[in-house]
Amino acid sequence: MNISAISELRLSVLHKLPPKADGKYVVYWMTAARRDRWNFALQRAIGWALELKRPLVIIEVLACGGRWDSDRHHGFVLQGMVDIARRMKKCPALYYPYVESKPGECRSLFGAIGDEACVVVTDDYPIALPSMQTVNAHASVRIEKVDSNGLLPLRATNQAFPTAYAFRRFLQRTLREHLLDAPESAPFARVDLPRLRLMPAAILRRWPPALTRLLAGESADLSALPIDHNVPTVTTVGGPDAAEARLTKFLAERLGSYPELRNQPEADSTSGLAPYLHFGHISAHEVFNELARQEGWSPARLAEKTSGSREGWWGMSEAAEAFLDQLVTWRELGFNFCEHESKYDDYQSLPPWCKATLSKHAKDRRPHTYTVEEFASAGTHDRLWNAAQRQLTTEGEIHNYLRMLWGKKILEWTAGPQEALDIMIELNNRYAVDGQDPNSYSGIFWTLGRYDRPWGPERPIFGTVRYMSSENTARKVRVGSYLRRYSADVD
Ligand SMILES: Cc1cc2nc3c(=O)[nH]c(=O)nc-3n(C[C@H](O)[C@H](O)[C@H](O)COP(=O)(O)OP(=O)(O)OC[C@H]3O[C@@H](n4cnc5c(N)ncnc54)[C@H](O)[C@@H]3O)c2cc1C
Repeated sequence: MNISAISELRLSVLHKLPPKADGKYVVYWMTAARRDRWNFALQRAIGWALELKRPLVIIEVLACGGRWDSDRHHGFVLQGMVDIARRMKKCPALYYPYVESKPGECRSLFGAIGDEACVVVTDDYPIALPSMQTVNAHASVRIEKVDSNGLLPLRATNQAFPTAYAFRRFLQRTLREHLLDAPESAPFARVDLPRLRLMPAAILRRWPPALTRLLAGESADLSALPIDHNVPTVTTVGGPDAAEARLTKFLAERLGSYPELRNQPEADSTSGLAPYLHFGHISAHEVFNELARQEGWSPARLAEKTSGSREGWWGMSEAAEAFLDQLVTWRELGFNFCEHESKYDDYQSLPPWCKATLSKHAKDRRPHTYTVEEFASAGTHDRLWNAAQRQLTTEGEIHNYLRMLWGKKILEWTAGPQEALDIMIELNNRYAVDGQDPNSYSGIFWTLGRYDRPWGPERPIFGTVRYMSSENTARKVRVGSYLRRYSADVD
């Protein structure tokens, strides 16, 4: 393994300094790709450690101070830290999980680490989450950011795409070469590095690593952190172990029925991988590779035709292609947008036709209006909407089909589209385990028309933005047992 194995497209250098000759170690500052495999940034850091003959320190950071930090999100990341700590015991690197107890601690830790390190490698991610803002650009060390987000490097294009169709066509023309460039599944295999047993005493004293009790997510320890304790942990277990188990189960038991059942909220037929992809506990490359292996696939099966069609380009089964359209086309469409549009969460980033039609109907009479608190407490008149919101607050997820309805109704039941956007962002990012992802913004803005086209007839409130109703949803998909499960009278 060597440093040049990472494509230039995935690498950006924040501080163009040479590696420090008298540095004590190479650091991987892990903030987004929270895993020990299928990870270009980790691979780059191992490459540097080999080249410079220095120990490798992997510092996984969990910052606080973000608007939506809560027991739910922290608990999920901490569970991942436990997995990584166990896996790293067998690897020639020192793993150092660091959890902030006050905002800003990570930045000062970064500064102290930077003084001693030869090079720091960190994750590139298109959204500035609190943990990613811990990179202290004043540190006197070479800092490299590496993009491990998806099959297509974020910088493979300068363009943000207006529709999934346009992006799919682009992928079909360009993805072939990138598919051959995957990160290592086991980057430490056959790697021998000098070992650092402990961090320097001064660092250990001032920035002690997360304690086992905290990593276990014990509520007494979580309660000491300055995060929202009203959003409790969920039963879905975080971490690379749970992610890989979920992938295995999905491929073995659910993939076959994915095209017919993925829109059925009661069928439990989707992968459930979104929170794991969001926190980097699993890589899109690993998911793709396992799927391709099961399908007996090779790149020779890719079609020459690049028409942007959903079916037929990959040369895989119908079920695999339907799944890849979500995992690759839709997921990476959101990453592409956030990479190229700095105002990805701003109402003004909507396409002009959406703003025009929503503005024309902004003053239309609303049949009902609710405050963010009423929405949050599932206090609307609509039983299906309330059930979806209850699933979100208790389990941290909503099935994709009902998530679309959930957003459309917030648009219908608020004073105007800007307020609807604010409420969707607030509820999605506070309660969804996979919230604050580029796809949070894809999904939310989709309900306001992004990536869609105008639909007739023009209606009140929505104008020509696609409309959805609970009645039609209940006719199209089975929701009987879903309603029973998440209704207030069940509590
Ligand atoms: C209002 C609204 C809000 C949303 N908020 C989020 C969010 O916070 N985080 C999030 O990851 N997704 C969000 N989505 C997209 C989608 O609902 C979820 O990605 C999906 O439900 C996750 O379930 P799964 O992992 O079982 O998906 P699967 O069907 O198994 O798909 C596999 C993967 O493909 C990606 N994917 C699937 N559907 C979509 C989609 N419609 N758009 C983009 N990527 C997709 C996800 O990474 C997913 O894990 C939102 C959609 C809407 C309409």
